[in-house]
Amino acid sequence: MRIAAILLAAGRGERLGTDAPKAFAELDGRPLLLHSLDAVRSSLEGAVVMVTVPQEWEARTSALVGNSARVVTGGDTRQRSVAVALESIGHDEEPDVIVCHDVARPFATAALFGAVVDALEGDGGADGAIPVIDVADTLKRVDDGHVVETISRDGIVRVQTPQAFRYEALVRAHREAGDESATDDASLLERIGLRVATVEGEADNIKITTLGDLRLAHMIGRSRG
Ligand code: C5P
Repeated sequence: MRIAAILLAAGRGERLGTDAPKAFAELDGRPLLLHSLDAVRSSLEGAVVMVTVPQEWEARTSALVGNSARVVTGGDTRQRSVAVALESIGHDEEPDVIVCHDVARPFATAALFGAVVDALEGDGGADGAIPVIDVADTLKRVDDGHVVETISRDGIVRVQTPQAFRYEALVRAHREAGDESATDDASLLERIGLRVATVEGEADNIKITTLGDLRLAHMIGRSRG
């Protein structure tokens, strides 16, 4: 099976409050980008890896990643960044499976990458597979500082990356998508009726968005040694 991976790193990461994009924020003295790239490369051996980066960060990224990944200039939205990376895949290198992973999740394990890829074949097969986590908190809808309603947690999950897809399915989902800017790729498959399976996500697979998350990431990193 031929596998390719897209590591999404073209966000500006404004909520982190650093000058450089989030991918270049340091965790244990190394850019987040390299932590997440290591996770992808060690989990998906032999995969072609593309990294989407913001415009003007291509040279710096190439210097960091060397020939371990192809650097692609990202788009205005996450969805567009994935589309641009897909367009960069030549006919002769089309994979069977493609895995999309957010650079903001450096702690995804090889077991999780393996689980989403395997889930494409499991239980009757699926076009996509995503890691999910149960919601522990009570959920409410609020408006203008006041509670409007309490939302049932039944069947509600939080979604992580890595997400795995049959290549043809992801290409089709992106081709048929509008400019609505989906926050993950699975939603584009859902919209056209393709099947997305779920696997158990990982508690440590946090998404680093704020400075508080970066502090938490330092603790997770230390606890793993
Ligand atoms: O903005 P958000 O945190 O949801 O972004 C999720 C992931 O998508 C991040 O890893 C970010 O770097 C990436 N992204 C991208 N291109 C964009 C916006 C976000 O590759 N235009």
